[in-house]
Amino acid sequence: MKLILLGAPGAGKGTVAKLLTRLDGSVQISTGDILRGAVQAGSDLGKEAEGYMKRGDLVPDSLIMGIMEKRLQEPDCEKGFLLDGFPRTIPQAEALKELLAKLDITLDVVVDIEVPREVILDRLCTRRTCENTDCQAIYNVKSNPPKKEGICDKCGAKVVQREDETEEAISHRLATYNEKTAPLIGFYKKEGMLLVIEAVDSETVVNAVKEKLGL
Ligand code: ADP
Ligand code: ZN
Repeated sequence: MKLILLGAPGAGKGTVAKLLTRLDGSVQISTGDILRGAVQAGSDLGKEAEGYMKRGDLVPDSLIMGIMEKRLQEPDCEKGFLLDGFPRTIPQAEALKELLAKLDITLDVVVDIEVPREVILDRLCTRRTCENTDCQAIYNVKSNPPKKEGICDKCGAKVVQREDETEEAISHRLATYNEKTAPLIGFYKKEGMLLVIEAVDSETVVNAVKEKLGL
């Protein structure tokens, strides 16, 4: 499958993407994961992105398009891909449209996951992430804590609160989402590609996508 996952931070894009990859071997491409990996590795890309990310601001479109142009041409994308956290702005969506045309790729659908704001806020404040950039497993102190406090079940690395998941950065990220990313819903609706799913649990979202794609 080739699809875009839209939704506010904390809507569950990452979780849904991971579940969908199990269905047909499509790969999850999370620009957030790629950027956090670059920051930890201390690469040029990481150095450029770090300040924006800490504040909860978007990284410039040109940086993101550079990453995605390369990433979408890697061989593992042939089976399919789930774009998680990209595109995030109208210019990114327009650039992606051109890039896909150039690479002769057609998307199946754009999924918009709609979750009430109270649920989002609660989730983001209680979310914890494995700091190992090759893992980045997600936990929740209330609903899904690691077996051993502060230690990742999957890889044994530390489980931490992301630097952009303080209350201040979270409200900034949500405002940025409303201003810059929410307009993509109208963009893809016009393109006739949008599937809106109102659901709090990831299973329901996955089932709706399966039904849409006839899986
Ligand atoms: P979430 O969806 O939980 O907000 P992500 O992991 O997708 O978080 O992204 C974390 C940060 O990485 C964003 O706040 C932003 O600074 C940067 N980022 C990720 N994807 C993009 C993108 N497509 N365009 C611009 N910035 C991005
Ligand atoms: Zn881990």
